[in-house]
Amino acid sequence: MAENKDNSFMGKVISLSKQRGFIFQSSEIYGGLKSAYDYGPLGVELKRNLMNEWWRSMVHEREDVIGIDASIIMHPKVWQASGHLAGFSDPLVDCLISKERFRADKAPMPKSGDNLPITCIDKGQAKTYLESIKKRFNIELRRNGKVLEGLRVIDENNFGLFNDDEEKPSATFPYSGYVSPNLGCPFLSDERQFNLMFRSQIGPVDVLGDISSFIDKNKNMDGTEIREGIEKIVKKSAVYLRPETAQAMFVQFLNCQQTMGMKIPFGIAQMGKSFRNEVTVEHFIFRSCEFEQMEMEFFVEPGTQKKWLEYWRDARMDWWKGLSNNPDKFRFRTHEKDELAHYADACYDIEYEYPWGFDELEGVASRTDYDLKKHAEYSGTKLSYFDQQKQDPDTGKNGWRYTPYVIEPAAGATRGLLVYLLDAYHEETVPDAEGKESSRVVMKLHPKLAPIKVAVLPLVKKEGLPEIARKIVSDFFKAGINARYDEQHSIGKRYRRHDEAGTPYCLTIDGQTKEDETLTIRNRDTMEQERIPSGKVLESVQKKLALS
Ligand code: ATP
Repeated sequence: MAENKDNSFMGKVISLSKQRGFIFQSSEIYGGLKSAYDYGPLGVELKRNLMNEWWRSMVHEREDVIGIDASIIMHPKVWQASGHLAGFSDPLVDCLISKERFRADKAPMPKSGDNLPITCIDKGQAKTYLESIKKRFNIELRRNGKVLEGLRVIDENNFGLFNDDEEKPSATFPYSGYVSPNLGCPFLSDERQFNLMFRSQIGPVDVLGDISSFIDKNKNMDGTEIREGIEKIVKKSAVYLRPETAQAMFVQFLNCQQTMGMKIPFGIAQMGKSFRNEVTVEHFIFRSCEFEQMEMEFFVEPGTQKKWLEYWRDARMDWWKGLSNNPDKFRFRTHEKDELAHYADACYDIEYEYPWGFDELEGVASRTDYDLKKHAEYSGTKLSYFDQQKQDPDTGKNGWRYTPYVIEPAAGATRGLLVYLLDAYHEETVPDAEGKESSRVVMKLHPKLAPIKVAVLPLVKKEGLPEIARKIVSDFFKAGINARYDEQHSIGKRYRRHDEAGTPYCLTIDGQTKEDETLTIRNRDTMEQERIPSGKVLESVQKKLALS
């Protein structure tokens, strides 16, 4: 394994992760694959423990949340409806004000001399966007009801702000040649010629064969026509690896609600792999192309979304803090109005203080009724809920049919794993067996997350001690507790090894065990040792784990 010479805190955590078998570079013997990682013998346990804890708190301990495990490859229309599939080889652009994502080649194209009114959905939005344009571009537009005025196209490369009656602009900006379709906004990101979703083909199709005969038959076509033709052929059998787990919960809303007789408010939870062809992969497993998510869509009555957003924001924060040594390293970040996705009416990020600063760990968003409405529109299936007990606020009649609003706590499982590795890593100076100062690295993982709960260590490999140790390990296995028999190297080295693995308890079997049926139990964090009857050790560890 290549040696990691990076002596920064992050470098040390990465290096320990490899040495102890938490995380390996994927396909390392072939030189590795950029941004792909394998979870080793300890990493897989840690990841499962983390995800199981999430499942327990989100599903098993609640009456109002149910779970699903959906396909990674879904019907391509799902991604059309969700907006993820806004053209694979089409130039994609984001509106910097509303975050609307659209195809540049389909956008309205005002010409030189045309005014550029920014038309919002209401006055409130107009006021918000006025402020965000002022903050971001240092100009003040004129608000006329829900329309922001003052911008005009100067020529094909520039637009400007024109004050009343003035022929000269007081500020100019680069013009892309088009505006965002919904808002009519010319403040846009650069064009991107790709989609973040990984594409594949489904079924017994010979796409390359179809493409080559298409090119053969259409030799007279220009580049754009050829590209469009190929795109059509590819799209016929194209499927995508899901870039988030969330959409399956919207698509299965009715099935889940009806089969389980769920009443609003209720949630559908899912955890599993997601894939994004990220342009920038960074900070070890923080951002990778293949990762795991833990997401829940909580369906609520329209008008109650603020209350539920605050509820889930706090519940999720408490969960992260409850498994950590440093709760102060977590914080909320409220999304500014101008940062919100166009479908969201509020959003909080739960952030962690990584070695490079505070950054996202989980997003808790109020997604309005956007997703269910979009899937209803694209699928032709009514995705609504009928509440017999409520009055329809529009008609005043008994019984109310509505499209539920959604609160979404969306967390990264692999990113969470990184957080807890960083949180657990400690270097300490402690006395060694002879009482001299020595340094130790200890992973203070929460016992619920620790990959191995107890290590059972015979002091020597003879005199019947291994047999006693193996019997204890087997008792732990039967009780469903992950224990590990370890007889390699000196007892001091074994303690250090399990400190680095984050094993909360070490049990040492020695000569005295044979005489009086007692053993020592060592606490990872305090290093205190206590002699207890070997017949009581399982119960004692069970109690400690339950109390942790
Ligand atoms: P970011 O701003 O960091 O790209 P995002 O806002 O795009 O994240 P969401 O779509 O809200 O992320 O996904 C929910 C969670 O999934 C994120 O908070 C993060 O923990 C995790 N996540 C998203 N993309 C990645 C990735 N490429 N690698 C690892 N985890 C990810």
